[in-house]
Amino acid sequence: MTRGRASALIFLAIASVLALSLPGCDDQPAVPAVPQAVRCESDFSAMSTDGQIIVYASNDTACHLAIAAAQQVLHDIETDISAFRADSEISAINSAAGAGAVAISPRTARAIQAAKDYSRLSGGAFNPLVGPIMQLWRTAADEQRLPSDDEIRAALSLLDLEQIKLAAGDGRHICRLERPGMMLDLGGMAKGWAADEAIAAARQVKGVRAVLVMIGGDGAGWSDPAWSRPWSFGIQNPRRPETREIADRLQALNLAVVTSGNYYRYFEIRGRRYSHIINPRTGLPVESDVLSATVTDADGGRADALATACMVLGAEGAVELLEGIEGAEGLILQMVDGRTVARRTSGYQGEK
Ligand code: AMP
Ligand code: MG
Repeated sequence: MTRGRASALIFLAIASVLALSLPGCDDQPAVPAVPQAVRCESDFSAMSTDGQIIVYASNDTACHLAIAAAQQVLHDIETDISAFRADSEISAINSAAGAGAVAISPRTARAIQAAKDYSRLSGGAFNPLVGPIMQLWRTAADEQRLPSDDEIRAALSLLDLEQIKLAAGDGRHICRLERPGMMLDLGGMAKGWAADEAIAAARQVKGVRAVLVMIGGDGAGWSDPAWSRPWSFGIQNPRRPETREIADRLQALNLAVVTSGNYYRYFEIRGRRYSHIINPRTGLPVESDVLSATVTDADGGRADALATACMVLGAEGAVELLEGIEGAEGLILQMVDGRTVARRTSGYQGEK
């Protein structure tokens, strides 16, 4: 798969705690006094991209402990759920497809269960079993030929969620894919899900007031309501990724903001670009009128899965899907006759 430069992030990582503690003056509303906090941050590489963790806490020790806790979780998640690492739990499940069950960590079991739930919620547009179809298009790109109808038909027969079997007992979790060739690929939800998990770990540290975890252009922020300083997120203009121009901005105390788009990662076959997002009904890369789909939700994994689903559904279907899910909102940038049209769900909280 081809990747753009790191600067072509779909979502701009400019989240920052707003300076709401400024003293009140004539043209500014007074804000309640808030306790002081120290800020620390750390950059990292994970999930084939760059990321950043920012923490505000009552003291330096808490700040650094929280960063370490978030980093450890991100590392563990990547080790467990990456389909690209031969030693990951997901790869072990995929290798054993049709043959047997694999012991997995409670966290991986939760991720797989969440993926099944998100898939149902999206009416199947998000499907974590797209692995064989992704593989087909990767091979096609390597060999510079289009997959045959038979190959696509065979891969489409491996998408049944009911054939993912999860079981738990005596503190152990196992997972089995029922048919040979089935392959889990959690890439469509991994970043939002991992950001949430990392925040949950950092929040456990006493004295932590706010945490932001950005992975590529996706991320989530949490800020203690008692501290009442929201994070501010910028959504990048998908038509000008190299400029980091902002299409919209939004603020929240507890929110994941995840964007899917076509231009950043794609397969290139005989000079033509194909989306890295697959329509699970056809087995073909999506040709959507959506330039980018940004989904906001308190649940980061759900936001990520829904953003991917929005690309599959097209602008009309995307807005309809999000309107039907309580807590999920979105900004869909649609291409109409060469122009960008912004479509927002009714509860979307952007500034524009
Ligand atoms: P995202 O950037 O979150 O939209 O995720 C894109 C990634 O999700 C792809 O690179 C695939 O690994 C995976 N994927 C592609 N199509 C789908 C789909 N329809 N449902 C779930 N995952 C998908
Ligand atoms: Mg996604």
